[in-house]
Amino acid sequence: MKKFAIISLGCSKNLVDSEVFAFITQSAGYKLTEELKEAEVIIVNTCGFIIDAKEESISTILEAAEFKTSGKCKKLVVTGCLVKRYFEDIKNSFKEIDEVIQLKDFSSFKKIFEISSTEERKLLTPSHFAYLRVSDGCNNHCSYCAIPSIRGQLKSEPIEKLVKSVESLVTKGVREIILTAQDTAQYGVDIYGEQKLPELLQKLNAIEGLSWIRILYLHPAHITSEMIDIIAKLPKVCNYFEIPIQHINNNILESMNRNVTKESIVEIIAEIRSKIPNAIIRTTLITGYPGETEESFTELKDFVKEMKFERLGAFAYSREEETPAYDLGTQVSEEIAERRKDELMQIQQEISEEFLAGLVGKKINVIIDKKSSEEGFLFEGRSYFDSPEIDGVVFITEGKGKIGSIVEIEIIDAWEYDLIGCII
Ligand code: SF4
Repeated sequence: MKKFAIISLGCSKNLVDSEVFAFITQSAGYKLTEELKEAEVIIVNTCGFIIDAKEESISTILEAAEFKTSGKCKKLVVTGCLVKRYFEDIKNSFKEIDEVIQLKDFSSFKKIFEISSTEERKLLTPSHFAYLRVSDGCNNHCSYCAIPSIRGQLKSEPIEKLVKSVESLVTKGVREIILTAQDTAQYGVDIYGEQKLPELLQKLNAIEGLSWIRILYLHPAHITSEMIDIIAKLPKVCNYFEIPIQHINNNILESMNRNVTKESIVEIIAEIRSKIPNAIIRTTLITGYPGETEESFTELKDFVKEMKFERLGAFAYSREEETPAYDLGTQVSEEIAERRKDELMQIQQEISEEFLAGLVGKKINVIIDKKSSEEGFLFEGRSYFDSPEIDGVVFITEGKGKIGSIVEIEIIDAWEYDLIGCII
């Protein structure tokens, strides 16, 4: 049987598009392989969000192109966010690429295979969890972000469609659903005129057979008390709050067009922590944004030390064309941005270590993701506060369990970002 491979770069929103491309290719009679050398069709679904992502996309295209001579590849297809931003450049610069497909242009993709197929998803995640893209695009226009020009304005999926799709995923073995969007808290405002995340969560919580619902990307300007209350109330919704704050200095937040202040961020965090004692907050921060002085960076560091976010990722500012921040006259050098990012991650390492060490001896539920390839461990899984790829792993030493099941474990040790436990 003919085979195809797909390389999905960037975020979980992009992965959902990759899953549709995979479904269509499969409908055209190809079987998915992870071995690029075996694949007659290789699809690279690129990311173009920041400079590192663009570089990774280009090197991946070049690596995939080598299989046209050293492997069986007859068709190299490139699509995704990088294509959206640099369509002509990509078309003209890589002679190895056979087809450049615009972002989400599934119709043109089908024409390559001369088929008419539905646009369902072939899950590229392990069969027990799946992403649910509740909306795509973004209306926020943060000054540093190219997403609105890549993926357009916010476009939500109707509630009924999402519920049906989760019901169908559950019948195929999915136990954990991960809600994703550019701004999940704004889900529904475009089609219903109001924020509909609470209602969606209630409907998903009622689906039998579904165990965990995890929410990503809650913009701090759009989190409401109602949302916090619903998350607190619904048993299947993980008490995991992914709230990208990006900075804490008020001048920078204003320049970023984030529509929040230090004070409002502090208020939200306090509300979450007082209403949900076991809430885990994950945030992301940008260092070296134009105008970030040593003083405002110190303010950020102090805030991180004080807030002790259980999970945190820091990124050096990436100066992106066609964004308002590109033209700001107060750019910070890349070296300084990188150094500050490293400094933040150093601080976070200690916070994370302390947080996880405090869990030793406690019992938590863990979803088993896979057999461990590390010596001395049976399985690898995740707790309610671990998103796949971006957070930690729970290494399991012993006990009975199977992949995709949720087991109770006792935590016996902790590393900087990961836990070790045994199934009770
Ligand atoms: S919320 Fe801001 S950073 Fe996030 S996708 Fe929208 S514009 Fe970009």
